[in-house]
Amino acid sequence: MLYTSTRNKTLRVEASEAITRGISEDGGLFVPVEIPKLSMQDIQDMIPMSYIERAKKVLSLYLTDFTPEEIDYCVSGAYAEGKFDSDKVAPLVTLDEKAEVLELFRGPTCAFKDMALQLLPYLLTTASKKAAPDKQIVILVATSGDTGKAALEGFKDVPGTRILVFYPRDGVSPMQKLQMVTQEGANVGVCAIEGNFDDAQSGVKKIFTDKAVGAKLAENGLMFSSANSINWGRLVPQIVYYCSAYADMLEKGNLQPGEAMDIVVPTGNFGNILAAYYAKLMGVPVGKLICASNANNVLTDFLTTGTYDRNRTFFTTMSPSMDILISSNLERLLFHLSGEDDAAVRDWMGKLAETGVYTVSDEVFAQIKENFDAGCADDATVSGVIRKTYEEDGYLSDTHTGVAITVYRDYIAKHGDETPTVIAATASPYKFSKSVLAAVLGETPDLDEFDMAGALQEKTGVKIPAPLSNLKDKTVRFTTTCPVDGMEQQVYDMLGI
Ligand SMILES: *Cc1c(COP(=O)(O)O)cnc(C)c1O
Repeated sequence: MLYTSTRNKTLRVEASEAITRGISEDGGLFVPVEIPKLSMQDIQDMIPMSYIERAKKVLSLYLTDFTPEEIDYCVSGAYAEGKFDSDKVAPLVTLDEKAEVLELFRGPTCAFKDMALQLLPYLLTTASKKAAPDKQIVILVATSGDTGKAALEGFKDVPGTRILVFYPRDGVSPMQKLQMVTQEGANVGVCAIEGNFDDAQSGVKKIFTDKAVGAKLAENGLMFSSANSINWGRLVPQIVYYCSAYADMLEKGNLQPGEAMDIVVPTGNFGNILAAYYAKLMGVPVGKLICASNANNVLTDFLTTGTYDRNRTFFTTMSPSMDILISSNLERLLFHLSGEDDAAVRDWMGKLAETGVYTVSDEVFAQIKENFDAGCADDATVSGVIRKTYEEDGYLSDTHTGVAITVYRDYIAKHGDETPTVIAATASPYKFSKSVLAAVLGETPDLDEFDMAGALQEKTGVKIPAPLSNLKDKTVRFTTTCPVDGMEQQVYDMLGI
């Protein structure tokens, strides 16, 4: 199994090189040259397996230059007993007669990013031993809140790695900020920037691809790699839980073998929903992939019109991990849907960079309509749905999952679709206690972050996850803020070079 670039389809690299480099030199993203298949029997065979066994099965199809022992080491370390607050790692919880919630937030940082970022350090250090044996890896992360913490936690004190995280100063929740600025570990650095997530992401991408910066790192025995969702090593672990969810749907009797399930995903950078699309390409029977957005609805417009237009107002919402106007992973989808037309992808991405707008061909748009549905919801509507879902279905969701549930309800109302559905739940409600408490109570009490969490626990009986309640006693270690054009200097400062 080899990988190519979305902007140069003649390129061929092994999985370990794709994971070590993170992004292709031509600016494109690494994608598998062909998609491995799972038969219905393969999926049924997963039913009695543990999550670790299921992950080994799926990953071994993609990481063919890893030995079975290496895959076993990586997966067993990432999803070891005790790391996730559920035996099933990613359990299904019933919402109503038709829908199950796939809880992806049972890991150490209480967001779905843990599903990939607990595994990525293992994949990356194993891969880099093959692809770049004598370099220390520097992980550079731009975060809208959850990736940063999950990456810090995943890479903390991993030998041979350093990790630096940039987050938008006013774009993360108080709990998310506290999680990052109290991060422990000798190889970590955290810095706020004066800008939004897209500024942080563009800044990181620029530093990452700057030849002079790369040369300076090389002089010091260092090399960049990426833990952002553009890294194939981030995406591939996410394919696992959609295959796993189908096996669990069979086990619960919600589906007959071969019957389709719909998947609803609260979407930002398009990584999570793209993983579901890969699961579909592999043979998991998936009907519609329903892309749920908040007020930053650039994807809703794109998936329903075929025109991507980032020239619009940026909203700061109560689902900050989805406050994104440039969804990087969309590039991979376009590559596959266009029949691997790298020239078209270069053209669209060039237009996106220059004018902020591009329109895909009719053929690509037809395929988008066949596979995807999309919807969006503003904060007030989502708040109402969080409250109603808690009161009527007894399920307490976070604000991001609330967007997905809202869009799911709208979809059902519009299409009357009876297909069994899996809704991805991406964060613990306690990462966004203020908004969730306000939704459930219908008013915002004047309390600090921890008292809000306490009040929410008292009201709902849903327990505060230990990794969040423990933050109260941690020391703040990182207080630096820099302008966007000061990020490069920050990197040098944090690395001491
Ligand atoms: C990152 C994140 C998302 C968006 O996921 P993408 O893969 O970027 O689409 C949604 N919800 C939460 C809680 C997140 O942390």
